[in-house]
Amino acid sequence: MANTTQFVYGFGGGAADGSKEMKSLLGGKGANLAEMSTIGLPVPPGFTVTTEACNYYSQRGHVWPDGLEAQVADGLKNIEATLGRQLGDPDRPLLVSVRSGAAQSMPGMMDTVLNLGLNDDVVEGLARESGNERFAYDAYRRFIDMFSAVVMDVHHDHFEHALEEMKMRKGVTEDLSLDAGDLRRLVETFKEIYREHTKSAFPTVPKEQLRHAINAVFGSWDSARAVKYRQINRITGLLGTAVNVQAMVYGNMGPSSGTGVCFTRNPSTGERLLYGEFLVNAQGEDVVAGIRTPEPIAEMADTFPGPYRELLDVTQTLEQHYQNMQDIEFTVQDQKLYILQTRNGKRTGKAALKTAVDMVAEGLTDRATAVMNLVEPGHLDQLLHPGFKDDTGYSDRVLASGLPASPGAAVGRVVFSADEAEAWKATGEKVLLVRIETSPEDVGGMDAAEGILTSRGGMTSHAAVVARGWGKPCVAGCGSIAIDYKAQQFTSPDGQTVKKGDWLSINGSSGEVILGAEELVPAELSDEFATFMDWADEFRTIGVRTNADAPDDASQAVSFGAEGIGLCRTEHMFFEGHRIQSVRKMILAASEEDRRAALAELLPYQKADFLGIFRAMPGMPITIRLLDPPLHEFLPHDASGMQEMADLMGVPLKTVQTKVADLDEFNPMLGHRGCRLGVTFPEITTMQARAIIEAAVELHMEGVDVLPEIMVPLIGTVEEFVNQKALICQTADAVFAEKGGTVDYLVGTMIEVPRAALTADDIAPEADFFSFGTNDLTQMCFGYSRDDAGKFLPSYVERKILPDDPFQVLDQRGVGQLVRIGTERGREAKPGLKVGICGEHGGEPSSVAFCYAVGMDYVSCSPFRVPIARLAAAQAELAAQA
Ligand code: PEP
Ligand code: MG
Repeated sequence: MANTTQFVYGFGGGAADGSKEMKSLLGGKGANLAEMSTIGLPVPPGFTVTTEACNYYSQRGHVWPDGLEAQVADGLKNIEATLGRQLGDPDRPLLVSVRSGAAQSMPGMMDTVLNLGLNDDVVEGLARESGNERFAYDAYRRFIDMFSAVVMDVHHDHFEHALEEMKMRKGVTEDLSLDAGDLRRLVETFKEIYREHTKSAFPTVPKEQLRHAINAVFGSWDSARAVKYRQINRITGLLGTAVNVQAMVYGNMGPSSGTGVCFTRNPSTGERLLYGEFLVNAQGEDVVAGIRTPEPIAEMADTFPGPYRELLDVTQTLEQHYQNMQDIEFTVQDQKLYILQTRNGKRTGKAALKTAVDMVAEGLTDRATAVMNLVEPGHLDQLLHPGFKDDTGYSDRVLASGLPASPGAAVGRVVFSADEAEAWKATGEKVLLVRIETSPEDVGGMDAAEGILTSRGGMTSHAAVVARGWGKPCVAGCGSIAIDYKAQQFTSPDGQTVKKGDWLSINGSSGEVILGAEELVPAELSDEFATFMDWADEFRTIGVRTNADAPDDASQAVSFGAEGIGLCRTEHMFFEGHRIQSVRKMILAASEEDRRAALAELLPYQKADFLGIFRAMPGMPITIRLLDPPLHEFLPHDASGMQEMADLMGVPLKTVQTKVADLDEFNPMLGHRGCRLGVTFPEITTMQARAIIEAAVELHMEGVDVLPEIMVPLIGTVEEFVNQKALICQTADAVFAEKGGTVDYLVGTMIEVPRAALTADDIAPEADFFSFGTNDLTQMCFGYSRDDAGKFLPSYVERKILPDDPFQVLDQRGVGQLVRIGTERGREAKPGLKVGICGEHGGEPSSVAFCYAVGMDYVSCSPFRVPIARLAAAQAELAAQA
């Protein structure tokens, strides 16, 4: 049976087989060429070979599917009929371009051949017809160069070299100074270069040339650079590239021709002004290659007034039609304008917001479309953090790359210890803290540093979580640098050494580590930001809270639109000032009585913390989690630290050493932590519950609206929860009796142990709320240690064993099932149960969309990701409505 699949879609002459919705089949370029043809824009006729055909070619050993040959022939006939020209006919020559175009743009990654169809006869015909011999031979030499490079892998440099030699011989510097005779000779030289490298003559049959070029574009999909580009940009799930074969129009026909690119608005600022460049008497690649300097597009108004006016009309039509800023390629051939490409323009965060707000004000689009399509969550990230002034200019200084753990750019002098970071900061220095990994003991130095670089640890490592919470740039898990604390230096993979005091820059958005001090530009929140975020909130139905441990962070998050706290980790409060001594006393206590005494010292500190946080967010729910980490995290591990502690506490060094050894665990993350601490040391839970409830009652009695939600970590069985809840409720009753007043409070649990998700129907009747701790849930579902996964996860992602780091992007297929099951079983047992997420995924757009789909009440994330979560949540809602 004949294959009836349509592999070729024609366009041009006011009609098209495809449309802009067909990007996955026709690629972005092909779909938009079809769309532009249909709406009557001047698009040279052509056809698009589908991504399915490319997929077939690459999967089936480089053969074409049945039917493609005939369909390409028909496609070509249609172009020929539209223009009254023929491929290979010297009297009425048709030349075509052959260009790649995948569903997602991959700039410069795949290949293009222009002027296809030329041979020794056709070039003569083209010269006769155009009356311009120079033009014809110029087109021919470009074609041989491009065809050789793209199809036969003959390096472009060989041709470039021959061109330079010719110019030298002639004593000229510009290509345009070569005359027709020169170019004719150059063509012969180029053919020789081709023969020398391929051991065959340059193909003269145009249809053969076309077949080769289509195959080369298909093949470019699997080229090493294209594969790498897709990996870096996480482009997955595409079939291949489409191939666009289109009648040539010539910007290089003489002074009344030219070629250009333009944006309908300024892509850096969003200003509504045609922005771009134009080059007279040139073909597209001259603009890209930067050989000649193009003129600003506005100058076309004088030199090409007719085409310029038409271009202005086209840009308006396109913006109206696409309801988005467009990036357009065009050619003027003998004063006639042709549009060769349009696509949504890539823009900065600033431009994205201005464009969105302006386009709504101009009536070009509505708020819902603006929220859905005109700003990406990543754009907001750019605005909230400082960036590098020139974020493309430092590539030759990149020493290494790690995980982009906390976005933004930072510059400082390298120090290797937290103490030094603090000391240098105190003298006015800007520092970057470089550590193998960080621990809670380092928070002072982390705070003092401009940014943090670690060689170990993943996206939920201590450094990453703390840095994100503060909005401080951090590159984590940069395993390719070797840090030597003793020598106070680190070495990059290519052997460069960076010593203490050297200037270093990090890009926390990309993970790059850059030698030297790059220039920074500060974060900038425009008026449009507030307007746009208000619009996002109009559509959002899921709440957005923040993870914050301190009043300042809470206030910052409120200014970014947080509606409460979804996770206040109380352990961070144990490190400040002198508290750590009381904490250590508590840990060293030989009896329950001693432990209670030490905890009593901590109580006022904890209470003061909670007063601060409640005050920073009056009337908003505040989820406070009881102590979670294993106790050994609070003890010093080096000899001098232990001695210092022994001296301070007045105990023999041996006592401290024994305790440190006692608390050592093989798998601390699976050990004595979370509610297991509260079960074995109930007085810790009691002290924390008392601090929370005392603070809440006092404020409530003062008239401040407080909504405390006490959260028990690491529950695996309902019995654990019931045990802890009883302690909390008894403590609350005692405080109410003492104070002569009450306050409403909730007691809920984290769901972060897989067993808790599976037995959610047991737990829910006892709990006031669930909050998914997807950091631990991911750790325990995969069995990947949060702290060690940085050693292998990057290779897993590179080898496509995992699509993403599951500590960054929620693994919906696996961990997601636990979240879904936990939510469903919980709500079956307790209809209306409040459910949220407080793992790091709560600020990652695709994970936010998943939480929305599961039906959560809120997501919670670090303060600087609150706007991102708000937008992602609005987009999830709008996508569901569409
Ligand atoms: C979690 O496990 O997802 C969580 C929020 O808790 P932590 O990161 O503090 O373990
Ligand atoms: Mg946890």
